[in-house]
Amino acid sequence: MVIALTTLIPLCVPFERRKEAARGGATFNGEQKCWMAPRDKLDALLPFVPYRYRPDREAPYIRPWMVPQALWGFNLRAFLAPEDWNRIRKDAYARSGSRCRVCGGRGPQWPVEADEGWAYDDERRIQTLKGVISLCPDCHGVRHWGKTMTEDRQDAALAWMAEVNGWNHTEAARCGDQAMKQWHTRSRHTDWQCDISWAIRTYSVVPIRDGETLARELNRKFVRQAQTRVGVRAGHITHIEHLTRER
Ligand SMILES: [Zn+2]
Repeated sequence: MVIALTTLIPLCVPFERRKEAARGGATFNGEQKCWMAPRDKLDALLPFVPYRYRPDREAPYIRPWMVPQALWGFNLRAFLAPEDWNRIRKDAYARSGSRCRVCGGRGPQWPVEADEGWAYDDERRIQTLKGVISLCPDCHGVRHWGKTMTEDRQDAALAWMAEVNGWNHTEAARCGDQAMKQWHTRSRHTDWQCDISWAIRTYSVVPIRDGETLARELNRKFVRQAQTRVGVRAGHITHIEHLTRER
């Protein structure tokens, strides 16, 4: 218990809020380039605390969240001019002090990646953007479960999902299977629509004219890529066949 309370937790502190973090009891660790605080001080620092350490949140902090196949490629990168997407992406990094919003970690090559948070209306079949956050490559790999599996990285992603959520391997595997089942159900439909009005509202951006065409091209490319990758290993990893069998 004593060890748990004195363990330093990494925080997501935007540069312009560093004084607020210091007032709340956080200290800057120069070696790790990270604001940190003891576990028993987190209540005063709640806006900066990564999800997995927040006392008011429960697991799962990270789980697979798969995009239906008909919507692969339908994202802000396709619909917006590169400079607009870069602005939104970099704002997500800045808001978390370039730390993972889920675990507070950073990747070795590049620290964080932008993750679009989609909500799914299964009745009306609309995918709606709710926000963009920073994730470390490990947490991002769990989110994009299908891609992770086609790249044969599922063992590491399962282990990470278990660690972050405080689960055993079986619980993590069950969560992965549920996500796959849900993806399978959603991917039976080809009439999904994509709503990015959150980005338009929040950042006053205007979607490019041929975004939809570009997204469709990307969709075909990603489906082909997945089929090729899965085809190579389908003999011994049967469950990832689900990824491409539907169409
Ligand atoms: Zn992370």
